[in-house]
Amino acid sequence: MPSPLGCYTKLQWFMMRAQHSKSETGTSVKVHDRLYINGQWTAPHSTRVHEIINPATTQVCAVTPLANEADCIQAIDAACEALPKWSQTSTQERSHFITAAADEMQRRADDLADAITMTMGCPRHLCPNLQVLGSIAAFRSYAERAKLMDQVEERNGIHILKEPVGVCTLINPWNYPLSILVGKTAPALAAGCTVIVKPAEQTPLQDFIVAEVFEKIGLPPGVFNLVTGIGPEVGPVLCAHEGVDMVSFTGSTRAGVHISESAAPTIKRVCLELGGKSPLIITEDAELETAVRYGVQDVMMNTGQTCSALTRMLVPESRYEEAVSIAQRVAEENVVGNPLDPTTTMGPLCSEAQKETVVDYIHQGIQEGARLVTGGHHMPPGMTHGAYLPPTIFADVTNQMRIAREEIFGPVLCMIPFKEVDEAVQLANDSVYGLSSAVFAKTTDEALAIARQIRAGQCFVQGAHFTTEAPFGGYKQSGNGREWGDEGLLEYVEVKAVLTH
Ligand code: ADP
Repeated sequence: MPSPLGCYTKLQWFMMRAQHSKSETGTSVKVHDRLYINGQWTAPHSTRVHEIINPATTQVCAVTPLANEADCIQAIDAACEALPKWSQTSTQERSHFITAAADEMQRRADDLADAITMTMGCPRHLCPNLQVLGSIAAFRSYAERAKLMDQVEERNGIHILKEPVGVCTLINPWNYPLSILVGKTAPALAAGCTVIVKPAEQTPLQDFIVAEVFEKIGLPPGVFNLVTGIGPEVGPVLCAHEGVDMVSFTGSTRAGVHISESAAPTIKRVCLELGGKSPLIITEDAELETAVRYGVQDVMMNTGQTCSALTRMLVPESRYEEAVSIAQRVAEENVVGNPLDPTTTMGPLCSEAQKETVVDYIHQGIQEGARLVTGGHHMPPGMTHGAYLPPTIFADVTNQMRIAREEIFGPVLCMIPFKEVDEAVQLANDSVYGLSSAVFAKTTDEALAIARQIRAGQCFVQGAHFTTEAPFGGYKQSGNGREWGDEGLLEYVEVKAVLTH
């Protein structure tokens, strides 16, 4: 029988392959039986495999190998062996590979979107814009940014050179599985690093496509290696092995702590993109409809599974009830449903387990005395199965409640009243997190003045939107290091000073 983790022995797996090349609903099951190591599709040492569940149908949609320690070491060895040559390639050569990979990803854009929709439930018609095309454009941008590596600064006879940090383990989550893979892989390769990539258990399929892309364009063996496995099992090997120079991780603060502990004895560089509980401050004379609509849409996007989501909306008491009713209206405009239906704006959560986590928080909010304005813990109307939840708004939330302090990672917005802007800034900063933030005020200058007081890695002013051109990363327990933009590349750089006299 499968274990609770969805693991099978190899024998069971082959029986399943023979018996269930189609799932119970008649849809085909994508079977991967190889890891991508040293430029080869390599049979795993492990005897176990993992079943991937489509959260909309709750059926198995794919099967992947579960790597073990020997597989991880093989991948690390391959990356170590490839490093000396790859790190010495010219930036033009690396740019060429990055551009070729972006072109090939573009050709596979539909496959990438299908894979993401199937495994994490993002509505298929939204998936290209939300998950795929921007990621490919961002990948391409690092072909140009690779040239930053050639910049040599000279200070009084001291030459400051940029060199690649080395072999990098890249561990990714399931909410934006391609984008976050790109945000690490593209700058790492541009800098001249070699990588071992481990996707989240729930969403590995786009990583297999990206490995196929690198195979097709002839990326040298060992530069990009893919292992699939259970985080707490393979993580300690991938993060502790002395051949690894750096770990870049996006995911929960809990896993980030484990990863830092694994990496500490060998003093690896560790870049962490962790949780958030980001505030949106709306001032008394801001354009309320625009501001509240922006905040609600930001939270409900990707079914609330965005680490930088603006999940605490801080609203002046004088306009609070007006804001609550706008928020309710905007939330209820969402169409929750089958991700393959082109009218759907909110698909399921990524998994039944994630849905249970969110349901627990909704119960918690009600127990804590918050006012449930819309949504809740029941299945949305018309849905009978799948990891679905309705968009949920809580009003009368205090910043002390657990729903205001902990990351829920679901479609749940907390609306918190304040009297003065100073109090709003204090509430915004009263969090262990500091990933993102936003401000709506009457004028941009007023909003900028507030933005400067918020301790978070990003601040979106007057309705600005996310871009991979801007450095992204956290203050406090939201992590360290930055991704995207030039700063995303510099994360993978060692600085060498060459002294000439
Ligand atoms: P969630 O709890 O939502 O699944 P995680 O932070 O646990 O989020 O998962 C994000 C990624 O981190 C996944 O690829 C997962 O396999 C990995 N992971 C989880 N725990 C560890 C760990 N102890 N060491 C390394 N990676 C881990």
